[in-house]
Amino acid sequence: MLVHRPGRYAAVIPGALARIHSDFARSGLTLGVSAGLPKKGVSDTANYLDQCGTAAIKIADPEGFALPTDLVADPTLTEAQRTKVSYVQSAPQAGTPADRSWNKQVAREQRAAGANVLLTPGRSLDPNNATWELAEANRALDDLIDEVDGDEVPAWNLTLPATWLIDENLRGQLLAELVDRDDALVWYIRVRWPLIRRSFGQTLNSQLLTGYRELAETARLEDRALLLPATGLTGWLALSWGALGFGTGPSSASQAWADHPRIAARPGVTRTTVNRFFSSPLLHTISVDSHNSLARTLSANDYPPCDCSYCETQAEALTWQPQTAAGHAVYAMGRLASAVASRRRSERASEIARLVRRSNDLYNSLPLGSQLDPKEEPEHLSVWQAEVTGSPR
Ligand SMILES: [Zn+2]
Repeated sequence: MLVHRPGRYAAVIPGALARIHSDFARSGLTLGVSAGLPKKGVSDTANYLDQCGTAAIKIADPEGFALPTDLVADPTLTEAQRTKVSYVQSAPQAGTPADRSWNKQVAREQRAAGANVLLTPGRSLDPNNATWELAEANRALDDLIDEVDGDEVPAWNLTLPATWLIDENLRGQLLAELVDRDDALVWYIRVRWPLIRRSFGQTLNSQLLTGYRELAETARLEDRALLLPATGLTGWLALSWGALGFGTGPSSASQAWADHPRIAARPGVTRTTVNRFFSSPLLHTISVDSHNSLARTLSANDYPPCDCSYCETQAEALTWQPQTAAGHAVYAMGRLASAVASRRRSERASEIARLVRRSNDLYNSLPLGSQLDPKEEPEHLSVWQAEVTGSPR
């Protein structure tokens, strides 16, 4: 499991990783941490990765998709952030080739930040120019492999608008290219999801899930390590198809990289903050009010309370502590990841199917009066249930 450095409550992460490591490392769970390089710069990132000592995998993500010249360019870097790492200002325009020295500079900045897995820049690949973009991604990989030292692991970092996984022809072209490079043992693949309207929503696009399934099955067949950054529980689901790791974190941005609804700020109106809680029994993040209501109405057997130390602290606090909830969320996802890591690769699918079915059953059996607000429904569960129990396609 990879934990992304969040914008808020980042200070909680090193401790959460240490607790997950001490409780679940024996299950075979490997921990990684991924920190975005452009926003924070080299020395701040180095400091952060250094604090995350229990993470075996350290990534300083060059986030090519955040470059002002990128096709997607999201998140947008502020003027001040654009000056933090040197490669941002010298980035090539979308659709133009990067020169060798720029690709190597991107790798060196990651090394300077203390990363042990080095990524290609990860500029978004334009599906309208597929052949050229894949050739350019190949050149970036050549330059990275030329740059890495003996103890550094190179990873092919590809950033893809969802069409790449949804469209059969594009997907075929992508998979052929991935398989062709037998010197790329680690695939770090970030897919831009179509619009997600709900807070902490997962993708419900079944064609996209089919794309993930084929990608993960290909990785398993070809014996490559597929890491799916910023996918949250959708990435966890993909472990059942052959992905090796997924990226998550306490924020919704670390659980889904997606188009988001544009909400115009209304003058004089401050949006209220909703306190939220990651509910393991429902495999979903819901409001604290809803969580408390479920905990009151249902038996501990039906809605088991979390016994993590963050929840113990939360119970003793007088007011809701969002940073403690962030620690719980990461820890609880570590527990879910370890439940899968402890199984042989061939048994992972059935364990995930069992957990999805359990959550879906719980959700479908909620008694009258304790239903969730429609905006909070874990609508991904029925889609996933069909995915994990459906006949192989
Ligand atoms: Zn907890």
